[in-house]
Amino acid sequence: TGPAGRSLTELLDELPALDEATVVHSTSSTLTLAELRAAVSRVAGELTRAGVRPGHPVGALVGSGASGVVAMFAAWRAGAVYMPVNHRMTGHEVAALIDDTPVCLLLGTTGDLEGRDAGIGVVELDETTWSARTRRPVPADATTYDDDIALVLRTSGTTGKPKAVLLRHDGTLDALDASLRKLRRRSSGPREPRAELRANLIPLSLALWAGIFNTLFSFRAGFGVVLLDRFTPEEFARAVREHELTSTVLAPAMITMLSEADGVDTLEPLQIVRSITAPLSPAVAQRFHDRYGVLVLNSYGQTELGGEVVGWTIEDIRTYGTEKLGAVGRPYDDVDVRILDEHDQDLPAGEPGHIHVRSPYRMRGYAVAGDEDADRMLDGFLRTGDVGRLDADGFLWIEGRVSDMINRGGLKVFPDEVEEVLRRHPSVRDAAVAGVPDRRLGEVPCAWIVPVDGEVDEGQLTAWCREHLAPYKVPVSFVAVDAMPRNDVGKVLRRQLRTSAPPKEVML
Ligand code: ATP
Repeated sequence: TGPAGRSLTELLDELPALDEATVVHSTSSTLTLAELRAAVSRVAGELTRAGVRPGHPVGALVGSGASGVVAMFAAWRAGAVYMPVNHRMTGHEVAALIDDTPVCLLLGTTGDLEGRDAGIGVVELDETTWSARTRRPVPADATTYDDDIALVLRTSGTTGKPKAVLLRHDGTLDALDASLRKLRRRSSGPREPRAELRANLIPLSLALWAGIFNTLFSFRAGFGVVLLDRFTPEEFARAVREHELTSTVLAPAMITMLSEADGVDTLEPLQIVRSITAPLSPAVAQRFHDRYGVLVLNSYGQTELGGEVVGWTIEDIRTYGTEKLGAVGRPYDDVDVRILDEHDQDLPAGEPGHIHVRSPYRMRGYAVAGDEDADRMLDGFLRTGDVGRLDADGFLWIEGRVSDMINRGGLKVFPDEVEEVLRRHPSVRDAAVAGVPDRRLGEVPCAWIVPVDGEVDEGQLTAWCREHLAPYKVPVSFVAVDAMPRNDVGKVLRRQLRTSAPPKEVML
């Protein structure tokens, strides 16, 4: 990167001198540290030969394989800005993405490039030899970003069109260190020196920020990574056993799957799971703990904030037990959280309002004009678009996203709270709540249910909700669905539900 800049490639340089230790375990290949370093240099060299210069945005088609690690470090080694692209996207989707974000070269394996060659520069990666070959050089009119920018990341698009977020090298390194400090405070003592690197499990795609961040985090902590091709409870349990994992990260949907899995008896020696990327149901966290004896630590972040900014420690659990189950934790040391009302005035502890976060690692801005962040900032604080409260002990409780909030004739309903109540009913496997138009009240809550045995008893569920919720929060209608539409990190796509099956009786 730039003359004064730090680069995320320092993570590779600073790993302990255990050249023969395996640092990347994936389903199809493994790489020792020496092999990884050599692969990264070779691919970076080819990127430079293809015309990549510092600040050029380079896209890479990646999934959960080792190429996601090699491509990322190679792009940085060449001074490029790295943009991961899900290799399962269709050729049309890739073309649209590249049209939208000014990527000048696409890096990918021969198989992944098939039908996805978007007419820009192309470098082909051979996963067997970890060598690379230029198919087409970078076009002459390529856009260049400041060379302290490390990543262009697409948000998950839960609330609308995904936005392209620019994150810096130094900010990301600081974010990794902040997470590490939080983790170290949790560990019970110095780790025993070992002859080989321990590994950390990454069950998320390396096309996602959560997958990338936790891969980088593993290296920063001196660990290798175990990549899971496809998450299934059985595969996860096998990897935990094989690599003697004691802690890992999971998306809440995976915690739910594990807590219901038939084929898994134990997750030993796992002790801690950090839940990331989406709301964690306290009922699910409790069920998971009761079943496997593994603690679930919730943590909260946003792509724009540059990583995780609020989380739990083991000490917090020891101190507060289940009293605060449902909170996302406390802000990291160098992070500040403010809760503001509609007029941007601070609210007292306990009162819900708009969550604003000041994070030293936050994004540089959006990569695409039109995604502008001008009105997302207030005195150095980023408006997260989430609503929640801080309690007297400094714990943050999320109520939901402003954009998901249902305004029922002036009374506000957050889907998460209603969903949590529904999921506790024995006939409900999964539930999602969203607002649907109503002539009289403007909007009313409707529930989509994945039933345990195919049937939804509307009367029973209404009665259950009335027992646990204020009357205005009770859904007016319940629709049975086979499966919940979710995105890559397991977030419910409420927009899709709303448009797919609006119940007749509340349609305009
Ligand atoms: P888009 O911005 O495109 O709609 P997105 O916001 O889902 O997508 P991310 O940046 O990946 O993209 O997600 C951040 C959001 O995820 C947060 O603002 C919050 O709403 C939610 N979230 C993350 N962690 C938690 C958590 N522990 N509990 C509740 N919500 C969470």
